Amino acid sequence: MGTCKHCGKSAKTVSDVIGYCAQCIRGHFNEVWPDIKRVHDETRRLHGLPTDPPRAADGKACPLCHHQCLIPEGGRGYCGLRRVANGRLIGGRPHEGNLSYYHDPLPTNCVADFVCPAGSDCGYPRYSVAPGPEYGYRNLAVFYQACSFNCLYCQNYHFRVRTASPDRITAEELAAAADDRTTCICYFGGDPSPQILHALKTSTLAVRNADNRVMRICWETNGAMQRPFLQRMADLSLESGGCIKFDLKAWDPGIHHALCGVPNIATIENFRWLSTLIPRRPELPLLVASTLLVPGYVDEAEVTAIATFLADLNREIPYRLLAFHPEFQLRDLPPTSKSHAECCRAAAERAGLRRISIGNLHLLGNDYTC
Ligand code: SF4
Ligand code: SF4
Repeated sequence: MGTCKHCGKSAKTVSDVIGYCAQCIRGHFNEVWPDIKRVHDETRRLHGLPTDPPRAADGKACPLCHHQCLIPEGGRGYCGLRRVANGRLIGGRPHEGNLSYYHDPLPTNCVADFVCPAGSDCGYPRYSVAPGPEYGYRNLAVFYQACSFNCLYCQNYHFRVRTASPDRITAEELAAAADDRTTCICYFGGDPSPQILHALKTSTLAVRNADNRVMRICWETNGAMQRPFLQRMADLSLESGGCIKFDLKAWDPGIHHALCGVPNIATIENFRWLSTLIPRRPELPLLVASTLLVPGYVDEAEVTAIATFLADLNREIPYRLLAFHPEFQLRDLPPTSKSHAECCRAAAERAGLRRISIGNLHLLGNDYTC
């Protein structure tokens, strides 16, 4: 049970870590943000990450994501991965992947499994080896160990201790891990953006090595990379039968900033642009949206706004609602309740979307009502 420091509301769905309820964040963002920013800063200092994107006048410009860091000599970008040494921008280049990877049997617990060739009957025979789920084949899951956001509820936060790791995997080594039983590669993390140069090179090599065998290239991302890289990601996915899964974390700019430490403008504008490419491959979704249902914060109002945005772009965009589990800084919130998930599903349906799914059903609880 937490209490909002602005309005005094007490509820299981108010986090004392954030310190404010969703209504006060939406209505009084400028008042509450300095306090919430201090929470973000502390979590970043814990792992040696810069509290803000560097803006050194004589810094090296990193062109990879929305932060457009200007990194001074000896400094690091907001992601903590890209840095400047001896006048050169290093980290995340094709020969220096900071990642872990594993093979996952298909069909796997993927955000898009309900609409993709690995888990459904779509895409066969051009993009799939089976007219249904691809039993006997596997996904190469690539976990990049750095991120351009600072989500207080990060479900994969352990990567933060690896962001500064000296271990490196080249694009050639990673592409070689995509063997003849591998039919898809999914880049996630963290986020692929700070290491997009590595991911693009790996993808090109893996598709070439596959020599006309099925090798789908997929991405799970916060969507805040710079547009030229998104264009290349989309080209690879379109040609290979893969997809891009955008995590739309919140619609209200204040809620997004409070939860993730950064604005959502780049993500939304990138999503809008990417949706214009859907007609290039209408038979198989290029673009899939997902939202983690954070109790008390990513509520029915947020999902209604996101779903309305999606439906205005294209009612066929698949939308996955994901159950939250208390992790990282937000351990004082309960798991997403069944009633919250159903409420949000109904809101997405009312907005006009046709392909909605709830993921992580096993995590749903009963601690609060929508
Ligand atoms: S990837 Fe993004 S956060 Fe990292 S250094 Fe480049 S612009 Fe900054
Ligand atoms: S990585 Fe792509 S093809 Fe493989 S299961 Fe996920 S969405 Fe489907």
